[in-house]
Amino acid sequence: MSYDQLTPTPDADSKPFWDACRNHQLMFQKCAECGDVRWPPSILCPQCHCRDAEWIESVGKGTVYSYAIYHQAFHPAFAAKLPYVVAIVQLDEGPMILTNIIGCPHESLACEMPVQVAWDDVSEECSLPKFLPIL
Ligand SMILES: [Zn+2]
Repeated sequence: MSYDQLTPTPDADSKPFWDACRNHQLMFQKCAECGDVRWPPSILCPQCHCRDAEWIESVGKGTVYSYAIYHQAFHPAFAAKLPYVVAIVQLDEGPMILTNIIGCPHESLACEMPVQVAWDDVSEECSLPKFLPIL
């Protein structure tokens, strides 16, 4: 199985997010009532249960909240990428996103390290938001 067969399958809630990724835009829903910026996309605000939201574009910057260096492939499609970094990045707008840190020596990884989005165009249909350190 190749890497691009493992790309996300958008649903009704997440399709605007993945469509924007193809244009290298990181978009999140912002609650019209309380202003909470959320991830993953959902029909309701998890804070106040309001159904009204707008999509806003993130500046694509944040910090590493947590990370792990994977030395074992939990799916054969990722075996050639070992070792790689799985991280939770907290965007400046608030949401936390599960992603990969790229372009960073593993010994330099640190929580609270500033990062910016870097697009991995894995297929015609899919670009994945990954993150690079801000030097
Ligand atoms: Zn809300």
